[in-house]
Amino acid sequence: MSLSEITTRIAAAEQKAGRAPGSVKLLAVSKVQPNERVAHVLQQGHRIFGENRVQEAAGKWPGFREHFAGIELHLIGPLQTNKLGQALDLFDAIHTLDREKLARKLADAVQTRGTCPELFIQVNTGQEPQKAGVLPTDADAFITTCRTMDLPIAGLMAIPPVDEEPSLHFALLAKIAKRNGLTGLSMGMSGDFERAIALGATHVRVGSGVFGARDYG
Ligand SMILES: *Cc1c(COP(=O)(O)O)cnc(C)c1O
Repeated sequence: MSLSEITTRIAAAEQKAGRAPGSVKLLAVSKVQPNERVAHVLQQGHRIFGENRVQEAAGKWPGFREHFAGIELHLIGPLQTNKLGQALDLFDAIHTLDREKLARKLADAVQTRGTCPELFIQVNTGQEPQKAGVLPTDADAFITTCRTMDLPIAGLMAIPPVDEEPSLHFALLAKIAKRNGLTGLSMGMSGDFERAIALGATHVRVGSGVFGARDYG
């Protein structure tokens, strides 16, 4: 697979769903990928990337930013409050806002800095105990809490359970977003981004489809 294949497939999925061309943002998920592969995708002109660990992103993106202008970096993995400052220095968007303590610290930091990253609330649509995210039944209240803290929420994010049909989870996420007046939907990965686009995804997070398989060896 490759960047051009994924962008072609995204365009086709947009068209099939009756969505405007360019309405879906591709986050190229570069976690664990060797720097040569990331540089190759940057050289092809892509600028929007997702990383799931603050530390790993801190080690590679400041260097890339010196060589490539206009990089937009999205945090799509868990955020510990003690890494919040570092995350705010690095990331343009955070997709994993999932608890009140983090929201409170974020609200304080945003006040101090005067800028706020684009924010998505992670929803644990499969109610999996090991997974981050607010439960679907708690989502409305948490969105309200964040708004009370003057945190501008762009949308919702979910990672469906691996062994279930993702479309059910995409539909649930879209439903929660809609009833809360949210338009951003961060959903869909290499194996299911077309189904996510059919159900309204605005941000798809594609790793192996763009870069090839991750080698954790
Ligand atoms: C790794 C990761 C992805 C990308 O997964 P692929 O299957 O390689 O496309 C998407 N979202 C999150 C949250 C991830 O951690």
